[in-house]
Amino acid sequence: MSKPVVAVVGRPNVGKSTLFNVLAGEKISIVKDTPGVTRDRIYAEVSWLDREFTLIDTGGIEPESKDVILSQMREQAQIAIDTADVILFLTDVRQGLQDADAKVADMLRRSGKPVLLVVNKVDNFDKFMADVYEFYNLGIGDPIPISASSRLGLGDMLDALIAHFPEHAGEEEEDERPRVAIVGKPNVGKSSIINKLLGEQRVIVSDIAGTTRDAIDTEVVHDGKEYVFIDTAGLRRKNKIKEELERYSIIRTVTAVERADVVLVVIDATEGVTEQDAKIAGIAHERGKGIIIVVNKWDAIEKNDKTMREYENKVRQVLSFMPYAEIMYVSAKSGQRLHKLFEKIDMVIQNQNLRVATGVLNEIMMEAVAMQQPPSDKGKRLKLFYITQVAVKPPSFVIFVNDKELMHFSYTRYLENKIREAFGFKGTSLKFFIRQRK
Ligand code: GDP
Ligand code: GDP
Repeated sequence: MSKPVVAVVGRPNVGKSTLFNVLAGEKISIVKDTPGVTRDRIYAEVSWLDREFTLIDTGGIEPESKDVILSQMREQAQIAIDTADVILFLTDVRQGLQDADAKVADMLRRSGKPVLLVVNKVDNFDKFMADVYEFYNLGIGDPIPISASSRLGLGDMLDALIAHFPEHAGEEEEDERPRVAIVGKPNVGKSSIINKLLGEQRVIVSDIAGTTRDAIDTEVVHDGKEYVFIDTAGLRRKNKIKEELERYSIIRTVTAVERADVVLVVIDATEGVTEQDAKIAGIAHERGKGIIIVVNKWDAIEKNDKTMREYENKVRQVLSFMPYAEIMYVSAKSGQRLHKLFEKIDMVIQNQNLRVATGVLNEIMMEAVAMQQPPSDKGKRLKLFYITQVAVKPPSFVIFVNDKELMHFSYTRYLENKIREAFGFKGTSLKFFIRQRK
């Protein structure tokens, strides 16, 4: 299911970080920046009532001079316009309405994107309300007063936010065509792969109606079957400093992955697999998407009969959190093995939608338990009562046990392996929920 994307835009010190932390709570996703240096927050999953959305932070602004702030705010706003379904424009009642606010509001209004105008630091609704009305002057709708730090007005704000979500977040779901996101670092060959696929198949390139974001969706027909490729490469901005570029590409990756059934994580064979690749792959893993690791530029490395195996070992090592991912070695330049992509995509989608009958699952679990005794602690042994599959995309299972505390991660992993031995589930993660039953 594709979740709406909400981007937060606002001047320095209006309370963006505070709001982000309050909304994201513990579910905040911290994306590791340059390994070992900083941990930066870029996006988080938020749920309110029965709705879920992805909150993105369009980036920090260094408050150097007024000019710099305005130009950076424009950049932020552009990223939000490019990637979000709804833009949350945060202002500050204490700093009051500022010039830069008005300029950014103009830009947001012209974009036609839904914008929610939120006025923060209204710590006392009686005292500050008069100052909130000033923000009507921005001409982007009713200002919604909140206090992020005192958690006031957040419920009303979230209600208003959800009212702005596209009518049919499900629009794309009714579309039966497989949706494939191509992600990866700059220059690994994402565009080249798309172009090669376009060049060799009979193709129709189209703007897909109903998408609110400007990701480049391309329809590819293979063997009479239609696929939609979501490309993150085309929207690179050249005039940015490196750090911002990276933030932008992560935001684009998150939004593309969100909309996809299967994610192709493209790696450059000549560079080898890196931490940055792992970070990008992790975005697809977290979301339970089907994953194919596409090692591109296979033409450009020297090979012998061991190269592929050695390469696979390295990839598996760096991407050890997703041992289920499929791996392919291709060349966008020569077209080598590219046509096999479609077979793999079909296979992974099938596995994402696979349902295993409860009876069969329980047989596998009982057999597994008989072969390897469940863990025990202080004289109490884990008992597994029952397993059933509760969802697909990704396949998700509930296991009922006597005591949750006794269910070690390693035993869940053992059961997962047994289920995979029986059914494969290649290319898809599996989720397990442990429930206690006395
Ligand atoms: P950002 O630069 O937009 O990310 O702003 P921060 O979240 O870092 O907040 C800037 C300052 O405003 C911090 O000192 C916060 O504690 C403070 N702040 C945030 N929200 C509120 C609020 O609702 N009321 C008040 N009084 N202060 C707030
Ligand atoms: P993107 O930034 O991921 O979209 O990467 P591009 O598709 O723009 O490719 C980056 C560079 O790698 C270009 O110079 C391509 O010609 C080159 N390239 C892409 N695929 C291959 C490949 O399979 N083999 C070789 N040797 N070069 C490739």
